[in-house]
Amino acid sequence: MSPSPPGPAPPAPEPAVPAGAARPPGRVAVVFNPATGRERAAERRERARQALAAAGAEVTWLETTREDPGTGQAREAAAAGAELVIAFGGDGTVRACAAALAGGPVPLAVVPAGTGNLVAINLGIPGDLDGALRVALEDRRRRVDVGALGADRFLVAAGIGFDAAMLRDADDGSKARFGPLAYVASGLRNLRRRPTRLRLRLDGGGPLERRGQGVLVCNLGRIQGGLPLAPDAEPDDGLLDVVVLGTRSLRDWLAVALAALARRPQAARPVETFRARTVEVTAGTPQPVQRDGDPLPARTGLAVEVLPGALVLAVPAAEERPAAPVRRDR
Ligand SMILES: [Mg+2]
Repeated sequence: MSPSPPGPAPPAPEPAVPAGAARPPGRVAVVFNPATGRERAAERRERARQALAAAGAEVTWLETTREDPGTGQAREAAAAGAELVIAFGGDGTVRACAAALAGGPVPLAVVPAGTGNLVAINLGIPGDLDGALRVALEDRRRRVDVGALGADRFLVAAGIGFDAAMLRDADDGSKARFGPLAYVASGLRNLRRRPTRLRLRLDGGGPLERRGQGVLVCNLGRIQGGLPLAPDAEPDDGLLDVVVLGTRSLRDWLAVALAALARRPQAARPVETFRARTVEVTAGTPQPVQRDGDPLPARTGLAVEVLPGALVLAVPAAEERPAAPVRRDR
């Protein structure tokens, strides 16, 4: 897992499909979120359309709505015979498309265009439009695990307590102005969040009793606010990394911050990490919940399971993995 190198932007757009592409892209459906990067949506839509047409793709263009952030569109595209679905938006759009495609054969590509683009960052997918489209059309694949929270799906992480409160309290205005730094500010505001009783059951085992500010269940290692709390999480080991925030005070958070800076988050005593296929958390008081950055109403319970290898993603060469056998056991 390597972050995408910032690198200078190319002076002129290169062709979206490299000369050595294995095969033409075929039938491609784009699920576009027109609400991300508002002022430039029309321009980006047009540039993407042109690049895909120039690559020889047969493009179906679909847009998300307030009522359907992408699941219905991606499902419709797969049913209509799309050979690739491109989620063109933020993590919310990626999550919605992944929910439709998980468990099926149609690969998902990510063209990042939101405040939160953690799926792209974690998998080394370029942040610029031309680079991301190239990866989408390059025919390099990696099968990744998907998290299931009831009927919901997530790729990055689900959380109850602290991190969900942090995401909830980062308002749209500050996200537009400061980007991911908005999460740092709201995180700082939540450091004094009241700890609660946390009861965990991992893989159906006996309960672990803890007290703290929340639990994060990670599929990918880099999460909101850039906190490397689960740096060893692998998206294709069939396991979720469970981070229990046993933090109760600012002093605990200082220890977490120092350990994170040293790239040794597990060394922070208030933070414990586990690995499991199923995770049940019961909190003593109702807590906010989030998955992939989108909030859910406060509740006391969070039940998550991993769907091993459920999704095929288009990835850059460095993240490509040989095809692994598909596991459908849930
Ligand atoms: Mg994993």
